[in-house]
Amino acid sequence: MKSVKNRKPLALHWKILIGMGLGIIYGIIALQTDSGAFTTNYIKPFGHIFINMLKLIAMPLIFFSLITGISNLKDMTKLSKMGLKTFGIYIFTTIAAISIGLVMVNIIAPGEGFSDADQQKFSAMFNEQVQQRQADAEKFENQSPLQFLVDIIPDNIVASASDNGNMLQMIFFAVILGIAIILVPAVETKVVSAFFNGMNSVILKTIDIIMEFAPIGVFALLGAIIVDLKGDMVLFTALGWYALTVIVGLVIVAFVFYPLLLQLLTKTKPLAFFKAISPAQLLAFSTSSSAATLPVTMECCEKNLKISHEVSSFVLPIGATVNMDGTSLYQAVAAVFIATAFGIDLTFSQQLTIILTATLASIGSAAVPGAGMVMLVIVLNSVGVPSEGLALIFAIDRPLDMLRTTINVTGDMAVASIIQHFNRDVTSNV
Ligand code: ASP
Repeated sequence: MKSVKNRKPLALHWKILIGMGLGIIYGIIALQTDSGAFTTNYIKPFGHIFINMLKLIAMPLIFFSLITGISNLKDMTKLSKMGLKTFGIYIFTTIAAISIGLVMVNIIAPGEGFSDADQQKFSAMFNEQVQQRQADAEKFENQSPLQFLVDIIPDNIVASASDNGNMLQMIFFAVILGIAIILVPAVETKVVSAFFNGMNSVILKTIDIIMEFAPIGVFALLGAIIVDLKGDMVLFTALGWYALTVIVGLVIVAFVFYPLLLQLLTKTKPLAFFKAISPAQLLAFSTSSSAATLPVTMECCEKNLKISHEVSSFVLPIGATVNMDGTSLYQAVAAVFIATAFGIDLTFSQQLTIILTATLASIGSAAVPGAGMVMLVIVLNSVGVPSEGLALIFAIDRPLDMLRTTINVTGDMAVASIIQHFNRDVTSNV
C-alpha cells in the first residue's frame, strides 16, 4: 500500500470539479430547505473573496509576465511577427464563431415560436436592468471610432493599475517597457531583468497559493448561482430554444472548430488539449470572467501545454481582453433572436453587419460577468433592432455567460497553441 506521504496531490481540475459538484449539491439542498438568505450572507461571500484574489493578481501578473516574456524574445522582429499573427488569428476565430452562430440561429430560428405574451411579460420584468445596460453602452456609441486606440494609451500608469478594466493599458505599458529592455545594452539591464524574472516567479507562486482556495471558492460560487437562479427557473422554458441555439453554437466552436484548427495547424490531439486546459475551463465556467481566469489560463498553457512563456505572456492577456469567440457568437444569435421575436426580418447584408459589429463588440467587451450583454446593445442598434429587446434574454443570461466565458478562454488557449507552433523555432519553454 502507498504511504500517505508518497501519494500524489489531487490534480487541480479534480479539486475544482469536486468543489463545483459539492456546490451544486449544496445549492439544491439550500433551495429545498429555504436557506437562500443563509447562502447569500454566509456562502456567497467566499465566492467573491476567491474572485477578488484572482483579480488581485491579474494586473501584477500581466505586468511582470509580459515584461519578462517580451524581453526574453531579445529581438523586435520576432515580436512584431508574433503580434501580427496573434491579431490575425484572433480576428479569424471571432469571425468564424459569429458565422457559426448565424448559421445555427437561421436553422433553428428560436425567435419564431416566441409568443407576444412572453414578450410583454419579459419587457415589463426587466425594464430597469435594460435601461442600465443601454446607459452603459451609450458611452461607447457616442465616441470617435478611434477612441478605442486612445483608450489603450494610458497617461498615468498608477491610475491604470488601479482599475482592472484598464488591462489593455497595462499591456501597452508592459510591452513598451519590454521593448525598451531589448533595446538597451544587456550589461545595463542585468539587474532590471533579474528583478522582473524574480518577480515573475513570485507572482506564479502567489497564484499557486490562491489556487489552494479554489475548491472552496467554486463551491461557494456554484452554490450561490443555483440559489440565485431559482426565481428564474420558470422563465427558462420560454427561452429554451434560444438557449439551445447558443449552446449548440458554442459546442460546435469548442468541439469541432477548435479541434479542427488545432489538428490542421499544429497536429495537437484534441483530447490532450482539453485535458490540459480543463482547470481554466472549469474556472471560467464558475467565475464567468476571463480576466479572473487569466492566471490559471496562463498556468495551464505553460505547464500543461508546454507553451513558452514568451508566447503565453503575450497572447493570453491580450486574448482575455480582446478575443471573445463565445461572446461574439452569443451576440450574433441574440441579435437575430430578438429581431425575429419583434417581427423584424434581417436581410443578408444586415447579418453581414452583425459579423462586423459583433467582432468589434466582443473586442470592446470587458472580460467580466455580463459585459457581453452591454455591448450587445451596439450590435442591436447597428441593424435597427430595438435594444429594449435585451429584456427578452435577460433571465437566462447568467448561465449562458458561464458557457460563453468557457469558450472565450478555450479560444485564447487554442490560439496560443497555434502561435507556439508557428514560433517553435524562436521561443523556448522557459
Ligand atoms: N463574461 C465574459 C468574459 O469574461 C464576457 C461576456 O460575454 O459577458 O469573457
